[in-house]
Amino acid sequence: MDMTSAIFDPAAKPSLVGLTRAQLSDALGAVGVPERERRMRVGQLWHWIYFHGATSFDAMLNVSKVLRAKLAEHFTLARPQVVAAQLSQDGTRKWLIRMPPVDAKDKGAEIECVYIPESDRGTLCISSQVGCTLTCTFCHTGTQKLVRNLSAQEIVQQLVVARDMLGDFPGQTRPDDDGLIPSGEGVRPVSNIVFMGMGEPLYNFDDVTDAIGVLTDGDGLSLSKRRITVSTSGVVPQIAPLGDAAGTMLAISLHATNDELRNKLVPLNKKYPIADLLEACRNYPGLSNARRITFEYVMLKGVNDSPAEARQLVRLLKGIPAKINLIPFNPWPGTQYECSDWETIETFSDIVFNAGYASPVRTPRGRDILAACGQLKSETEKLRARARLALDDEA
Ligand code: SAH
Ligand code: SF4
Repeated sequence: MDMTSAIFDPAAKPSLVGLTRAQLSDALGAVGVPERERRMRVGQLWHWIYFHGATSFDAMLNVSKVLRAKLAEHFTLARPQVVAAQLSQDGTRKWLIRMPPVDAKDKGAEIECVYIPESDRGTLCISSQVGCTLTCTFCHTGTQKLVRNLSAQEIVQQLVVARDMLGDFPGQTRPDDDGLIPSGEGVRPVSNIVFMGMGEPLYNFDDVTDAIGVLTDGDGLSLSKRRITVSTSGVVPQIAPLGDAAGTMLAISLHATNDELRNKLVPLNKKYPIADLLEACRNYPGLSNARRITFEYVMLKGVNDSPAEARQLVRLLKGIPAKINLIPFNPWPGTQYECSDWETIETFSDIVFNAGYASPVRTPRGRDILAACGQLKSETEKLRARARLALDDEA
């Protein structure tokens, strides 16, 4: 893998791709576009960047030649680099995306982004942070040392990169290698987004909500709020603000039905115990039977998978418009956990099903390329370790 491109270049021109309207307006201001013109110019740029996926200012024919030249002098429409791409047998794709370094110390954060095609939808699983400061014991991301928030721009860029890779902007060609990308009347390759990659989205609240504003803007990327799901391990004070600011769907990583166990699996539970979490869910703005909260429950062998716990789960969620998603645990190297046996999962799922919750087991996707839920962990650390070894060898 090429490591040289991760060197900070102070002369590099910033990219406009991924910016909010306010940020674009500031960028225009910085190159002398007068205040009164900015709104209109932002509208034009917006359509080119987010509707057309423009990669060059030359394409922007309704923007004057002079302004196009000025923009090109100061900015780019570059996307972050895809440094590795993997395709699973089931059509799941994983991209390792390297963000340009922000300063001389930064070697370029790397994040993984996963695309999961189904017949009627395509879901992009995106990250909100590099790594995660929380330390859920069953999660690979939580073992990563390097942590920082992603900017709204970097969050939006993940969708732009996915659309590029899937040939989804007007005039681009679709990759034709597998026939697994959903297509047809009104079906976009990426129709849904889940914040289930790396990081705790509610610990990066402002950038996540700004990014959602860009992703759902009808003049551009145009995703429906109802098709964006923010998954949280339970940052209680930020749950209502998320509903107010973003209006997206909510998923809660519950994973246990009593505080003693949840304290171990999701240490954040010590701060925000189950009762407080469920109370915040009951008050989630916009909650209704048509807009249910998804409760995620990872199936850990001998840990949280008994029939009694299934019944307790149903009891706990009583009165909350909910969906339950049972996730087979995805093992990673060095983990102390195992996935529950299939029969155990079926018994658990039957209890949940008989209580009125439909088809709750999530089929693991992309396991062969380590792209499944909770397995994402940036390559950066491994690369660094390798680079250090190489240096030691030279010495
Ligand atoms: N930090 C957020 C979102 C990212 S994790 C959160 O915790 O909700 C997305 C989902 O994957 C969460 O439900 C998480 O608990 C689950 N997960 C983490 N590690 C997993 C693993 N090894 N196997 C299956 N699911 C896992
Ligand atoms: Fe962070 Fe979510 Fe993993 Fe917990 S499960 S460590 S909150 S990414």
